[in-house]
Amino acid sequence: MPSIASRYAELKRDLAAELCACGRAPGSVRIVAVTKRQPIDALREAVVLGIEEIGESYLQEARPKLRAFPKLRAHFIGHLQTNKASGIAAAFDVIQSVDRLEAGLALAKAAQALGKRLPVLLQVNISPSERFGVRPEEAVELAEALRALPSLELDGVMAIGPLTEDPDARARSFERAAALFGQVGGSTLSLGMSGDWRQAVRAGSTLIRIGTALFGPRSYRA
Ligand SMILES: *Cc1c(COP(=O)(O)O)cnc(C)c1O
Repeated sequence: MPSIASRYAELKRDLAAELCACGRAPGSVRIVAVTKRQPIDALREAVVLGIEEIGESYLQEARPKLRAFPKLRAHFIGHLQTNKASGIAAAFDVIQSVDRLEAGLALAKAAQALGKRLPVLLQVNISPSERFGVRPEEAVELAEALRALPSLELDGVMAIGPLTEDPDARARSFERAAALFGQVGGSTLSLGMSGDWRQAVRAGSTLIRIGTALFGPRSYRA
Protein backbone atom coordinates (compact mmCIF):
# COMPACT_ATOMS: atom_id res chain seq x y z
CA MET A 1 0.00 0.00 0.00
CA PRO A 2 1.33 3.49 -0.78
CA SER A 3 2.44 5.52 2.22
CA ILE A 4 0.47 8.45 3.58
CA ALA A 5 3.41 10.65 2.60
CA SER A 6 3.24 9.60 -1.06
CA ARG A 7 -0.56 9.91 -1.13
CA TYR A 8 -0.36 13.40 0.36
CA ALA A 9 2.32 14.49 -2.11
CA GLU A 10 0.22 13.16 -4.98
CA LEU A 11 -2.94 14.87 -3.72
CA LYS A 12 -1.17 18.21 -3.37
CA ARG A 13 0.30 17.88 -6.86
CA ASP A 14 -3.06 16.90 -8.40
CA LEU A 15 -4.85 19.71 -6.57
CA ALA A 16 -2.33 22.28 -7.81
CA ALA A 17 -2.77 20.95 -11.38
CA GLU A 18 -6.56 21.05 -11.12
CA LEU A 19 -6.53 24.63 -9.81
CA CYS A 20 -4.26 25.65 -12.64
CA ALA A 21 -6.46 23.87 -15.21
CA CYS A 22 -9.57 25.73 -14.09
CA GLY A 23 -7.84 29.08 -13.75
CA ARG A 24 -8.00 29.31 -9.98
CA ALA A 25 -5.26 30.68 -7.75
CA PRO A 26 -2.76 28.21 -6.33
CA GLY A 27 -3.41 27.59 -2.65
CA SER A 28 -7.05 28.67 -2.85
CA VAL A 29 -8.32 25.28 -1.63
CA ARG A 30 -7.48 23.90 1.81
CA ILE A 31 -7.17 20.19 2.50
CA VAL A 32 -8.83 18.88 5.65
CA ALA A 33 -7.53 15.37 6.37
CA VAL A 34 -10.44 13.20 7.48
CA THR A 35 -9.06 10.93 10.20
CA LYS A 36 -12.31 9.34 11.36
CA ARG A 37 -11.92 5.59 11.89
CA GLN A 38 -8.20 5.87 11.29
CA PRO A 39 -5.79 4.91 14.06
CA ILE A 40 -3.87 7.52 16.01
CA ASP A 41 -0.68 6.51 14.18
CA ALA A 42 -2.24 7.90 11.00
CA LEU A 43 -2.65 11.27 12.75
CA ARG A 44 0.92 11.13 13.92
CA GLU A 45 2.07 10.66 10.33
CA ALA A 46 -0.20 13.44 9.13
CA VAL A 47 1.27 15.84 11.67
CA VAL A 48 4.81 14.94 10.61
CA LEU A 49 3.83 15.70 7.00
CA GLY A 50 2.67 19.16 8.02
CA ILE A 51 -1.07 18.55 7.92
CA GLU A 52 -2.69 21.13 10.18
CA GLU A 53 -6.42 20.52 9.81
CA ILE A 54 -8.33 17.31 10.42
CA GLY A 55 -11.95 16.24 10.24
CA GLU A 56 -13.68 13.83 12.61
CA SER A 57 -17.29 12.64 12.72
CA TYR A 58 -17.70 11.20 16.20
CA LEU A 59 -17.02 13.04 19.46
CA GLN A 60 -16.06 9.95 21.47
CA GLU A 61 -13.55 8.81 18.90
CA ALA A 62 -12.11 12.29 18.36
CA ARG A 63 -11.52 13.19 22.02
CA PRO A 64 -8.34 11.15 22.68
CA LYS A 65 -6.95 12.06 19.25
CA LEU A 66 -7.46 15.76 19.79
CA ARG A 67 -6.01 15.52 23.27
CA ALA A 68 -2.89 13.90 21.81
CA PHE A 69 -2.57 16.56 19.07
CA PRO A 70 -4.00 19.76 20.53
CA LYS A 71 -2.45 22.03 17.88
CA LEU A 72 -4.43 20.53 15.01
CA ARG A 73 -7.37 22.58 13.81
CA ALA A 74 -10.25 20.17 14.31
CA HIS A 75 -13.36 20.23 12.13
CA PHE A 76 -16.49 18.40 13.25
CA ILE A 77 -18.05 16.89 10.10
CA GLY A 78 -20.47 14.34 11.56
CA HIS A 79 -24.15 14.56 12.31
CA LEU A 80 -24.69 17.06 15.10
CA GLN A 81 -26.74 15.64 17.95
CA THR A 82 -27.99 18.35 20.29
CA ASN A 83 -27.21 16.30 23.40
CA LYS A 84 -23.54 16.25 22.36
CA ALA A 85 -23.35 19.96 21.46
CA SER A 86 -21.42 21.05 24.55
CA GLY A 87 -18.80 18.33 24.16
CA ILE A 88 -18.45 19.08 20.47
CA ALA A 89 -18.19 22.84 21.05
CA ALA A 90 -15.45 22.24 23.62
CA ALA A 91 -13.41 19.74 21.58
CA PHE A 92 -13.59 21.20 18.07
CA ASP A 93 -12.47 24.44 16.42
CA VAL A 94 -14.96 24.46 13.53
CA ILE A 95 -18.37 22.82 13.26
CA GLN A 96 -19.17 22.11 9.61
CA SER A 97 -22.49 20.35 10.04
CA VAL A 98 -25.06 22.79 11.39
CA ASP A 99 -28.19 21.79 9.51
CA ARG A 100 -31.07 22.97 11.67
CA LEU A 101 -31.83 25.78 14.09
CA GLU A 102 -32.10 23.46 17.08
CA ALA A 103 -28.50 22.32 16.56
CA GLY A 104 -27.34 25.92 16.09
CA LEU A 105 -29.04 27.01 19.30
CA ALA A 106 -27.51 24.14 21.29
CA LEU A 107 -24.05 24.97 19.93
CA ALA A 108 -24.49 28.69 20.56
CA LYS A 109 -25.42 28.04 24.19
CA ALA A 110 -22.42 25.74 24.63
CA ALA A 111 -20.03 28.19 22.96
CA GLN A 112 -21.31 31.02 25.12
CA ALA A 113 -20.75 28.95 28.28
CA LEU A 114 -17.20 28.27 27.11
CA GLY A 115 -16.65 31.96 26.37
CA LYS A 116 -15.74 31.26 22.77
CA ARG A 117 -16.96 32.35 19.38
CA LEU A 118 -17.30 29.20 17.34
CA PRO A 119 -16.87 29.16 13.55
CA VAL A 120 -19.62 27.10 11.90
CA LEU A 121 -20.72 26.12 8.41
CA LEU A 122 -24.24 25.52 7.25
CA GLN A 123 -24.67 21.98 5.94
CA VAL A 124 -26.95 22.01 2.91
CA ASN A 125 -28.53 18.96 1.33
CA ILE A 126 -27.77 18.79 -2.39
CA SER A 127 -28.35 15.10 -2.90
CA PRO A 128 -31.21 12.60 -2.68
CA SER A 129 -28.73 10.05 -1.30
CA GLU A 130 -27.86 12.24 1.69
CA ARG A 131 -29.95 12.17 4.88
CA PHE A 132 -28.74 15.33 6.57
CA GLY A 133 -28.43 18.98 5.63
CA VAL A 134 -30.93 21.83 5.44
CA ARG A 135 -33.11 21.85 2.34
CA PRO A 136 -31.77 24.38 -0.19
CA GLU A 137 -34.95 26.46 -0.11
CA GLU A 138 -34.58 26.89 3.67
CA ALA A 139 -30.85 27.61 3.71
CA VAL A 140 -30.95 31.40 3.61
CA GLU A 141 -33.51 31.63 6.40
CA LEU A 142 -31.46 29.32 8.60
CA ALA A 143 -28.31 31.30 7.80
CA GLU A 144 -30.00 34.49 8.98
CA ALA A 145 -31.11 32.84 12.21
CA LEU A 146 -27.58 31.54 12.85
CA ARG A 147 -26.05 34.96 12.17
CA ALA A 148 -28.24 36.36 14.94
CA LEU A 149 -26.44 34.16 17.49
CA PRO A 150 -23.41 36.12 18.74
CA SER A 151 -21.42 33.10 19.96
CA LEU A 152 -21.46 31.53 16.48
CA GLU A 153 -19.57 32.80 13.46
CA LEU A 154 -21.26 31.54 10.31
CA ASP A 155 -18.52 31.27 7.69
CA GLY A 156 -20.09 29.47 4.75
CA VAL A 157 -21.50 26.22 3.51
CA MET A 158 -20.70 22.49 3.65
CA ALA A 159 -22.26 19.85 1.43
CA ILE A 160 -21.84 16.17 0.73
CA GLY A 161 -21.95 15.22 -2.94
CA PRO A 162 -24.40 12.70 -4.37
CA LEU A 163 -23.61 8.99 -4.54
CA THR A 164 -23.58 8.87 -8.30
CA GLU A 165 -21.12 8.09 -11.04
CA ASP A 166 -22.91 10.48 -13.37
CA PRO A 167 -20.63 13.51 -13.73
CA ASP A 168 -23.43 15.75 -15.03
CA ALA A 169 -25.72 15.01 -12.08
CA ARG A 170 -22.81 15.61 -9.75
CA ALA A 171 -21.91 18.88 -11.45
CA ARG A 172 -25.51 20.09 -11.09
CA SER A 173 -25.48 19.27 -7.36
CA PHE A 174 -22.17 21.03 -6.87
CA GLU A 175 -23.35 24.08 -8.77
CA ARG A 176 -26.33 24.18 -6.46
CA ALA A 177 -24.03 24.12 -3.42
CA ALA A 178 -21.92 26.90 -4.93
CA ALA A 179 -25.01 29.03 -5.62
CA LEU A 180 -26.21 28.54 -2.03
CA PHE A 181 -22.75 29.52 -0.78
CA GLY A 182 -23.12 32.72 -2.78
CA GLN A 183 -26.42 33.45 -1.04
CA VAL A 184 -25.29 32.47 2.47
CA GLY A 185 -21.94 34.27 2.26
CA GLY A 186 -18.75 33.69 4.24
CA SER A 187 -15.34 32.49 3.14
CA THR A 188 -15.63 28.69 3.10
CA LEU A 189 -17.31 26.31 0.69
CA SER A 190 -16.55 22.83 2.07
CA LEU A 191 -17.22 20.56 -0.87
CA GLY A 192 -15.47 17.49 -2.22
CA MET A 193 -14.20 14.18 -0.82
CA SER A 194 -11.78 11.52 -2.09
CA GLY A 195 -14.00 10.47 -4.99
CA ASP A 196 -15.29 13.83 -6.19
CA TRP A 197 -12.93 16.61 -5.13
CA ARG A 198 -11.85 17.53 -8.67
CA GLN A 199 -15.38 18.36 -9.70
CA ALA A 200 -15.90 20.19 -6.42
CA VAL A 201 -12.84 22.34 -7.08
CA ARG A 202 -14.15 23.13 -10.55
CA ALA A 203 -17.45 24.21 -8.95
CA GLY A 204 -15.67 26.60 -6.56
CA SER A 205 -14.90 24.59 -3.43
CA THR A 206 -12.47 26.28 -1.02
CA LEU A 207 -12.03 23.28 1.29
CA ILE A 208 -11.91 19.58 0.45
CA ARG A 209 -12.37 16.82 3.05
CA ILE A 210 -10.13 13.91 2.19
CA GLY A 211 -10.04 10.59 4.05
CA THR A 212 -9.52 7.47 1.95
CA ALA A 213 -7.31 9.09 -0.67
CA LEU A 214 -4.85 10.03 2.08
CA PHE A 215 -5.07 7.24 4.60
CA GLY A 216 -6.50 4.27 2.70
CA PRO A 217 -9.64 2.38 3.70
CA ARG A 218 -11.16 3.01 7.12
CA SER A 219 -11.09 0.04 9.45
CA TYR A 220 -10.28 1.20 12.92
CA ARG A 221 -13.03 1.26 15.55
CA ALA A 222 -12.57 3.45 18.61
C1 LIG B 1 -15.93 10.43 5.90
C2 LIG B 1 -16.20 11.77 5.37
C3 LIG B 1 -15.34 12.37 4.43
C4 LIG B 1 -14.13 11.68 3.83
O1 LIG B 1 -14.53 10.76 2.87
P1 LIG B 1 -13.47 10.07 1.87
O2 LIG B 1 -14.32 9.59 0.77
O3 LIG B 1 -12.83 8.97 2.64
O4 LIG B 1 -12.50 11.10 1.45
C5 LIG B 1 -15.62 13.66 4.02
N1 LIG B 1 -16.68 14.33 4.49
C6 LIG B 1 -17.55 13.79 5.38
C7 LIG B 1 -18.71 14.59 5.84
C8 LIG B 1 -17.34 12.50 5.83
O5 LIG B 1 -18.21 11.96 6.70
